[in-house]
Amino acid sequence: MTDNQIIKAITIISFIFLIAFISLHTIVPPSPDKKADISENFSADRAVQHLNHIAKTAHPSGSIENEKVRNYLVEQLKLMGLKPEIEHSNHASLYPKMLTGGDMYNVIVKLEGTSSDHAMMMSAHYDSVQQGPGASDDGSGVAALLETIRVLISAPPLKNDIYFVFTDGEEQGLMGAKEFWTKSKHKQKIDLIINFEARGTSGPSIMFQTSDHNGWMVKEFAKAAPNPVTSSLLGNLFEIMPNDSDLTVSNENKIPGLNFAYGDGWTGYHTPRDDVKHLDIRSLEHQGRNALAMARHFGQLELNDIKKENAVYFNFFGVVISYSYYWVYPLTGLIVLVFAMVTIIAVKNKRASYKGLGFSLLAILFAVISSIIATVMIWMGVNALWAEKMTLFSGAIYDSSYYQWAFLLLTASICFLIWRKFRSVNEWEMTLSAIFLGVIVLILLTQFLPGASYLFAWPLLVSLLILGWVIWKNKLDTISANTWMLSLISFLPIILFVPLLKLLFTFFPVSLVPYLMLLFVWLLALLFMPCKQLFQLGQWVPYTLIGIAVVILSISFFRANPSADRPIDSNLFYVVDQDKKQAQWVTTQPPDDWTKKYITSTNTSNIKAILPFNYDKQAWVGTAPVRNYQIPQIKLVKTGIKQGNKMIHFRFTGGTDVQNMYLSIPGGRVQKIKVDEESFTIPKSMETFYYKQAGIPKQGLDVIVEVKGDQPIEFTFGSEQHPDPEIRSKRPSHLITSGLFDESIVVIKRITY
Ligand SMILES: [Zn+2]
Repeated sequence: MTDNQIIKAITIISFIFLIAFISLHTIVPPSPDKKADISENFSADRAVQHLNHIAKTAHPSGSIENEKVRNYLVEQLKLMGLKPEIEHSNHASLYPKMLTGGDMYNVIVKLEGTSSDHAMMMSAHYDSVQQGPGASDDGSGVAALLETIRVLISAPPLKNDIYFVFTDGEEQGLMGAKEFWTKSKHKQKIDLIINFEARGTSGPSIMFQTSDHNGWMVKEFAKAAPNPVTSSLLGNLFEIMPNDSDLTVSNENKIPGLNFAYGDGWTGYHTPRDDVKHLDIRSLEHQGRNALAMARHFGQLELNDIKKENAVYFNFFGVVISYSYYWVYPLTGLIVLVFAMVTIIAVKNKRASYKGLGFSLLAILFAVISSIIATVMIWMGVNALWAEKMTLFSGAIYDSSYYQWAFLLLTASICFLIWRKFRSVNEWEMTLSAIFLGVIVLILLTQFLPGASYLFAWPLLVSLLILGWVIWKNKLDTISANTWMLSLISFLPIILFVPLLKLLFTFFPVSLVPYLMLLFVWLLALLFMPCKQLFQLGQWVPYTLIGIAVVILSISFFRANPSADRPIDSNLFYVVDQDKKQAQWVTTQPPDDWTKKYITSTNTSNIKAILPFNYDKQAWVGTAPVRNYQIPQIKLVKTGIKQGNKMIHFRFTGGTDVQNMYLSIPGGRVQKIKVDEESFTIPKSMETFYYKQAGIPKQGLDVIVEVKGDQPIEFTFGSEQHPDPEIRSKRPSHLITSGLFDESIVVIKRITY
């Protein structure tokens, strides 16, 4: 290799890294601006003061802490001179295996517009999970909205009404949102909803999901968003993934809507570490800037007839590019046509042969398969050796970026090693084969995931046009002679792929990342021309990459040690059977160093033998001292017979520390149940009837069960209190609460009616 070639290689590689770096920079959340005028701007420093109150401790629906957070919200809104209202109702939903209920309190406040024909809604849920204080999920959304309200009311009113809805019970199954969209007296007025969520403790606020018919909304979002991070690919992916948020409910109700969330720092999600200390203030700032911008923009628009054809959209250097789905088919058609033309001309001009194209296609596919197999095997090895010391219940993994980097480096070295073997293949054939594969993927995406089509369409089109132009000019002997041309080819793929891969790495569990190597290999193949310079540097390049990957994996091995900063899951709870006067410590995880002190037996049993509720897991138990707990009153109101069926009417009385109530009735005799005002017919398929109620209204909750026949029937009640101070105080710091029932006290009681 000549000096000249080495300089060229270095130039192009530096260019690629520079573009990658800049593209990643466009998705970094903004820092709070200390100098900004707070009367007009969102301030995360102010919002975080709310968060200090909201996220002091866990505040799941039905808990006393939840009530405190609600009171804080109401008080703050009143201090701003507003008139918040609370919509209180009991929610109940029948699922195939159980009935779930919850005592819901949504906090609603309206900012009056100048013309009240239309209204928008901004929402975030104020409940947290039982396992953590929910500073990010979703305290950050709530705090961002409170701060947004402060800024909005300091200026003249907007045109449209804005309803701020702080929902309850999201974590218990979107209960607050379901109540709002079925019972709220305001629901008819809402034309548009903007929701804020989090699935981690850091990262950019991404507009990651929309309702159907989003074309108009996306265009307007693009005009207003100050630091947009978005992709219709993510939107399409979230449609097919089972992740739910409050927007799921408004989507089902066909309300146009946008959903914002940040999702980096997944290891904090739904854990005690989702606290203010671990929250990246920039994520809160980003959420807040988005909230304020959306309120100001959509608050002034005519919200009539806003459902328009879906759009493809993505952020590109701080702006959002969007175009209608209508353009996806013609664009794909055009690319197929240009591809065919360029290929035919390339073969005619002897830049490529069909045989060579076939070979390079094999080379790419071989690299894809080898990379996936290699990275999957490495991950299996990590799993077998040390993954359990760094994996959380949610699937999140500490140091996930270490593994992602190792996978990327290995994949790059595999491509080098394999593609060097195919020396007879030239760079034209390689690039055209990569484009051919890209065209196939594009056709599939056009049909099945149009929102993702942009990722392939634009890099393919630009690459084809540049290649076509070079052949047309027919001046350059080989394209590698032209450094800037190579740089140009790599520009668009890098700028589109790199940030998106980063976001996908963030949202996907590490175990799925090996399959994303498919995209990475394809990207390398598409960039084969510029990368060829690197290949020519010699065999030391791939071996160096492998060496770095090995070093990274070794470091991650030594770092995989549970500590207070990197705690792993532990699970322990206390179950007392009031009838049998028996108590047990229970865990649903193989006993760890600490739970071993409580769990005496090595045998496992199905947890249903201990907790006869709709919860299926292996359990380990140990004998515990019998303690006395007060459980909510279950007062029989009356029993009777109606058309040969037994009617049992009882009332739970709240006002205690009990967070959840459970009921199971085996034998398939339950026909109907009425909870508060809602009646449900129980399907025959529900062999054992299960019911879970989160929170009991202070004034009590009436339940009427209709069972077949008039023989006596046994009801098994469970009441869950949380947390057990003993478990909480004695747990060592390298272990954290995890899983259902952890740190709970469960009291079992049977009543025959
Ligand atoms: Zn949430």
